[in-house]
Amino acid sequence: MVKIFIDPGHGGSDSGALGYGLKEKDLTLTIATRIRSILLAEYNDVSILMSRMKDETVTLTQRTNAANTWGADYFLSIHINAGGGTGYEDFVYQGSNTRAVNYQTNMHNEIMKLNTLTDRGQKTANFHVLRESRMPAILTENGFIDTNSDAALLKSASHLDLVARGHVNGLVKNFNLTKKVTTVQHTVVNGDTVYALSLQYGSTVQQIKEWNKLDSSFTIHAGQVLRVK
Ligand SMILES: [Zn+2]
Repeated sequence: MVKIFIDPGHGGSDSGALGYGLKEKDLTLTIATRIRSILLAEYNDVSILMSRMKDETVTLTQRTNAANTWGADYFLSIHINAGGGTGYEDFVYQGSNTRAVNYQTNMHNEIMKLNTLTDRGQKTANFHVLRESRMPAILTENGFIDTNSDAALLKSASHLDLVARGHVNGLVKNFNLTKKVTTVQHTVVNGDTVYALSLQYGSTVQQIKEWNKLDSSFTIHAGQVLRVK
């Protein structure tokens, strides 16, 4: 079981950065909650603890204590930038070991693959949550709330979904998470013949299992288009 601690920045009396009618504390909670739901719905053997699940005040020490006590494998802190720049960047502690830096590289690359923000690069810092957490840690800064073009993206639900998905893909790479296999029943028509099939969807297999084959000469080829009745 991989234990991921997700830390939505700010909350409660601490709004974080503000701009264009947006509050950092709301955006970080939206992104963090989305990352949690995707991981729990789609991946095996992953356990999540969040520093907050709602709009409440949590100190930096409470956040790192919670992750340390729980024995997290990774500390992921989500933030939104401010101060008049543009783009995405992430931070690890300045004294990080190679493993934490490799994790940062994977997170950075996967997040940038799905992100339309400018790439500001991988950085180091002496932030409390990075320094005081006793496991590899990263802090991501997902665009500038006080820059018009970034704020426009932060107002888009589909953009926030992609941001969350990028974080998930980085975590999948870092911890070799495997996808849950789901089975879906379909009725399929090929010419005049009707087939009942069950399809399995997973990370490594997407196989067609013939569930109730009515014509032994029928083979489904890769790329063949079938009509679902
Ligand atoms: Zn912040």
